[in-house]
Amino acid sequence: MSRVLMLYTGGTIGMQPSPHGYVPCAGLAERLSACMALAADDRLPAFDVLEMQPLIDSAELMPDAWNRLVAVLASHWQTYGGFVVLHGTDTMAYSAAALSFMLGALDKPVIFTGAQIPLGEPRSDALNNLVSALQLAAHPATPCEVSLAFHDRLLRGNRARKVRTQGLDAFDSPNFPWLAELGIAISYPQPSALLSGRPDFAPIEMDDDAVAILPLYPGMSLRRAKELLADERLKGLILHSYGVGNPPSFEGQLLTALTAANERGVALLNVTQCAQGEVVQGAYATGSALNQAGVIAGGDITLEAAVAKLTVLLGRGMSGSALRRALSGSLRGECS
Ligand code: ASP
Repeated sequence: MSRVLMLYTGGTIGMQPSPHGYVPCAGLAERLSACMALAADDRLPAFDVLEMQPLIDSAELMPDAWNRLVAVLASHWQTYGGFVVLHGTDTMAYSAAALSFMLGALDKPVIFTGAQIPLGEPRSDALNNLVSALQLAAHPATPCEVSLAFHDRLLRGNRARKVRTQGLDAFDSPNFPWLAELGIAISYPQPSALLSGRPDFAPIEMDDDAVAILPLYPGMSLRRAKELLADERLKGLILHSYGVGNPPSFEGQLLTALTAANERGVALLNVTQCAQGEVVQGAYATGSALNQAGVIAGGDITLEAAVAKLTVLLGRGMSGSALRRALSGSLRGECS
């Protein structure tokens, strides 16, 4: 079995209580071996643990953390057969999606996991998730892609969402079948259709002003929406729309503002607020007007994957028709 590198970034899995609530805590490798003599079990791959600096609560995550993760993966890629990233659950789906777009085709699995209850606490799910991720990282049937292992399932990273705040089965991929199911045995329902290859370890440029989300809701302010769309620093906007991709029209004023932004070169991506299903831009008159405004239908992409995709593509300097093309279809299996 090939050796696995475990990258510990922070998150509940390695947190400890403090007077203000859980905080990230160094020394996970020692605590892990105290919990269980993992290394002695020959059904598990040998592994090393590398702690990222600084350890963070993933709610603090900014995209520069993705560059740091990719850089560490790059420098250890040849040495290990698989990689496990221990990450906080709050933004794990964003990070898994971002790495899927940054790395592109892979020839080894990169598996994110974490926990709802810290390692060492009663009923903690940490050890189970971590051991599952380790086994999966060394399993020959595990797809060479960025995925997320949690509870009893392995999910495509850019399809995963945190769907439960309390349940130990906190993640799911509502629009895509699980890559593997972990029962008594590990079963892989179907082989991964993604092409494998050597990853791209290039970093992305950070620009906090480039990407924004415009949530649609009854009572939303048209004035604020127009201000956002007119912002010169904006390069990509996610329209978080109703149902199959419908916006309110505001008597045409929202469409006018969207059209103007599109003409300035802002990429506009329509993503549904529904937990499951896809955008069908044109099913209703309110939605079909978006086609004229240059809004790209996001299909069944999740909000998390849409944010990550826009951030990575813009961070790689993509714009204009190349950006529109990349947003219109699947790059790494993120939409159907
Ligand atoms: N706030 C924590 C984090 O995302 C939650 C968790 O890990 O479950 O880092």
